[in-house]
Amino acid sequence: MVQLYIPLNFMGMLYREIKQALTDIEDMFNILEQDPEIEDTADAKPLQVDNAVVRFEDIHFAYIKERPILRGISFEIPAGKTVAIVGPSGAGKSTLSRLLFRFYEPQHGRILIDGQNISEVQQGSLRRAIGMVPQDTVLFNDTIGYNIRYGRWDASEQEIEEAARLAQIDGFINSLPEKFNTPVGERGLKLSGGEKQRVAIARTILKSPPILVLDEATSALDSFTEKEIQDALDRVSRDRTTLVIAHRLSTVVGADEIIVLDKGIIVERGSHNELLAESGVYASMWNRQREADEARETLKRAEEEE
Ligand code: ADP
Ligand code: MG
Repeated sequence: MVQLYIPLNFMGMLYREIKQALTDIEDMFNILEQDPEIEDTADAKPLQVDNAVVRFEDIHFAYIKERPILRGISFEIPAGKTVAIVGPSGAGKSTLSRLLFRFYEPQHGRILIDGQNISEVQQGSLRRAIGMVPQDTVLFNDTIGYNIRYGRWDASEQEIEEAARLAQIDGFINSLPEKFNTPVGERGLKLSGGEKQRVAIARTILKSPPILVLDEATSALDSFTEKEIQDALDRVSRDRTTLVIAHRLSTVVGADEIIVLDKGIIVERGSHNELLAESGVYASMWNRQREADEARETLKRAEEEE
């Protein structure tokens, strides 16, 4: 049994809350593998991933009966393609990723991976097939090397170093006093949001899952860090079936399809150029964000000139 270092403040949480937090922060069920609330059926078989086509079919979902969150969501992520979900906070974006991990069951509709209904396959096999780069990464109180190895326990030193390099965190690690053996987390070196996210990317590179879920950080990282992270993310998602929940629209421009979600329904869908041409919700989000970026740039230049 693998020893887990769960932060102490998790202990006081209700099971449901923990479950929710874990979807947001970590796919720890890859290790725990069994979710006591959702049972495998007696004849559940392991998921067989072939092309990794992911399909949401008419999904309706509510956490509490009176308050529907998703109302008839259908879309497909073709093999190796990227679908981006955008929309206001509370629209139900992260809920889609929780359903894909089967942390909750939809009340109606089904989710298929290569034609297999995810509620009919063994949960462990489902969660092994999906890699998650969460919004907010929790680090274990251990070395940074351990935190990367978490992606795949049998990875060699060389593979860990390679994953760190691809995630563009090797330079940072080599600047640390004990390099990969430097303790991090609550009781060690505190990492910035961008550094933690790159640790999560390195983990995911090691895990090398056929399906990837990226829930982007909301906080504005500085533009250099953001570009580095974007490059690292582009590298992991290339040729993998990817669902990206995006806050920064600059990161979805290249997606094969962009879905605009609002109050649990799809209000617009298409490529970046198609959606801009529609002059609808997406186009106005895009213009607003560009204006905000320009204002920030102007401010920065003014500060630099002082
Ligand atoms: P988004 O990621 O688009 O910001 P979420 O999918 O996280 O939105 O949440 C959609 C809605 O569901 C929100 O209104 C949120 O408050 C609600 N919600 C999320 N988790 C729970 C829960 N465990 N119980 C009840 N409501 C929830
Ligand atoms: Mg969210």
